[in-house]
Amino acid sequence: MFARMKAAILSIGNELTLGQTVDTNAAWLSQRLAEIGIPVDMHITIADELPEMVRELRHAAQVADLVLITGGLGPTDDDLTRFAIAEVMGGVELALRDDFLEQIKCFFGIRGKSMPDANRIQAMFPVGSEPIENTCGTAPGIRARINDTRVFAMPGVPREMHVMYDNCILPELAAEQGDAVILAKTLRCYGMGESDIGLKISDLMTRGRNPTVGTTAQQTVIGIRIHASGANHAAANQLLNQTETEIRNRMGSLVFGVDDETLWSAVGSLLIERRRTVATAESCTGGLIAKSLTDLPGSSAYFLQGVVTYSNEAKSSLLGIPMEFIDKHRPVSPEVAEAMARGCLAHSGANYAISVTGIAGPTGGSAEKPVGLVYIGLADATGCEVTRHQIGDTCTREEIRDRTRKIALNRLRLKLISQESA
Ligand code: AMP
Ligand code: MG
Repeated sequence: MFARMKAAILSIGNELTLGQTVDTNAAWLSQRLAEIGIPVDMHITIADELPEMVRELRHAAQVADLVLITGGLGPTDDDLTRFAIAEVMGGVELALRDDFLEQIKCFFGIRGKSMPDANRIQAMFPVGSEPIENTCGTAPGIRARINDTRVFAMPGVPREMHVMYDNCILPELAAEQGDAVILAKTLRCYGMGESDIGLKISDLMTRGRNPTVGTTAQQTVIGIRIHASGANHAAANQLLNQTETEIRNRMGSLVFGVDDETLWSAVGSLLIERRRTVATAESCTGGLIAKSLTDLPGSSAYFLQGVVTYSNEAKSSLLGIPMEFIDKHRPVSPEVAEAMARGCLAHSGANYAISVTGIAGPTGGSAEKPVGLVYIGLADATGCEVTRHQIGDTCTREEIRDRTRKIALNRLRLKLISQESA
């Protein structure tokens, strides 16, 4: 198998451990390293405390081949990264680099200021390490070696860190890595829980496998992440495709898309492909399904109209359902869901009509019709099917509406797929 270098990223700063600043540096660096085939095993966030920094840097240098540090290179008393590196390098001294002191003085000079004494520390580096030039701020970086592990320390300010990484660190790492790359893809699934999906692909999720496979759940959509490492793009891509095909074979129509695709973008693409149109009649989702279907540019090719028929009168006047019928069956009922879908189909002339009626809560539920009870109708020229869903009274109003839209759009998606294969 392709040999892998392991990297660790250390983010330094009280603002990070206090939760006041979100650590974007570690995410950014992990993504950049993946592009050149270097996997990151650890993100470590540490407060501005020397003993903790020393302990974590020592550990990272023992387990990783490459350690990237951001933050703690400033001029103030709480900026301790250079001291931590000196300590882990064996308790070496800091030595002044006159050329870097001049550069820092110059940085202030061209802004019409003289350098404060505090900034002198930024020109001091652990003996045996090398400074890395900072072209857009005062804090130079540090390049060091601890045993066999390479260590790069960069400023915490994201813009300065990006420039330093791109100009001074990436070229060196990329040259060594050759064409190596880690490619990533996420398959988006709907219609099965995360643990059941995990069971179907458990053999692909074993540790140490290449590609690695993992799952994440986001609001009832399950993502299956695939990361493939290879000596070059073609090799990584081949591995990725093999695993993707294997997962798709096992998951079938549970997979609706990849990466940023949504259920509604998947439905939109299918409707365009099949040259079909859709209309909606919504009650408790208040137009959310219509909104989602029209989120995509070009949606006029498949979306004809949507009505929000919240009141009984609207259901009657806009969809042609007799008031007596609604009174008899009650608005949240399979009969009214079916009448809404059929009325919507007839009024719009679309190929498909989706209807929704339910109780989004948190009030308005009863023992017989609890919060989260939803009926969804789907009509086409061949007839109308209504499904009943008990989404659950522990869900918020927002969640009930979101889940309702996903169930409804997934039903249309499955219908479109089945009608093609029929
Ligand atoms: P420092 O280099 O530690 O003086 O950090 C300077 C500033 O950069 C901090 O005040 C933060 O606003 C920002 N910063 C530091 N570390 C990070 C990080 N990991 N992610 C995002 N911003 C950061
Ligand atoms: Mg700091």
